[in-house]
Amino acid sequence: MNPVSLVGAGPGDPELLTVRALRRIEAADVILCDDLVDPRVLALARRNARVLHVGKRGGCPSTEQQFIHELMIREARRGARVVRLKGGDPFVFGRGGEEADALRAAGVEVEVVSGLTAGLCGPAAIGLPVTDRRAAAGVALVTGHSADGAHAPDWQALAKSGLTLVVYMGVARCESIVSALVAGGLSEDTPAAVISAAHTPQQRHAVCSLGTLALTLQTEGIASPAVLVIGQVAAHTAANHSVQRNRNRPTTSDSLCA
Ligand code: SAH
Repeated sequence: MNPVSLVGAGPGDPELLTVRALRRIEAADVILCDDLVDPRVLALARRNARVLHVGKRGGCPSTEQQFIHELMIREARRGARVVRLKGGDPFVFGRGGEEADALRAAGVEVEVVSGLTAGLCGPAAIGLPVTDRRAAAGVALVTGHSADGAHAPDWQALAKSGLTLVVYMGVARCESIVSALVAGGLSEDTPAAVISAAHTPQQRHAVCSLGTLALTLQTEGIASPAVLVIGQVAAHTAANHSVQRNRNRPTTSDSLCA
């Protein structure tokens, strides 16, 4: 039985795949693919590969997680080379851990092929260095999806951490995230940025402040998938705009609100 490969497809641009990811995609018999995987990456699959879309995008219909597990196990047992293809990195907010556990529990070997995660290569796409030592002691990758729920990040602690905060799945709950951070003591003047559809032809970004972040998303019409970046490092973005701005991307629009 071949191992099942949990492969990170990166943020979009196929040039950002690892060589190993490319090899696994090219060799796959069956690809189970998330919504966020760029069509240009899928186009690298063999013509006769079976591509199954098992979307896991927040708010959209998605295939039951259990069904995905069973499908991977069944295909692996019948000898197929199975690739589970996920946007970004498979182990960063991708349920890759749950899938690896399910496979191992069924006696199926798992190979993890890391990918570039949106929270790091998104900011980099606009020249934003998330751990610039002049401005941050580190970076926290957090989910905004459960902003108010039981598994919500401790926003109060994060507000005081001195870390750059990179929030995945944070667009819909931006307002409550900002309120929680301000309540935790983070100044509304703290620089902030948002990058959506990073490394795709639809990439857009805006640089603003924590206090204007929610309004900026609204006025600029910036939607998911997007990462929010909050911290002094976001002030180091603007100088790089003209350099980073999309030599080949037709539809970029930028806004500077601070
Ligand atoms: N495993 C993925 C994250 C999946 S969670 C990774 O490592 O990147 C989905 C969230 O990732 C989205 O809501 C958004 O916050 C972020 N995201 C994924 N692709 C993105 C992209 N191209 N640009 C900006 N954010 C992206």
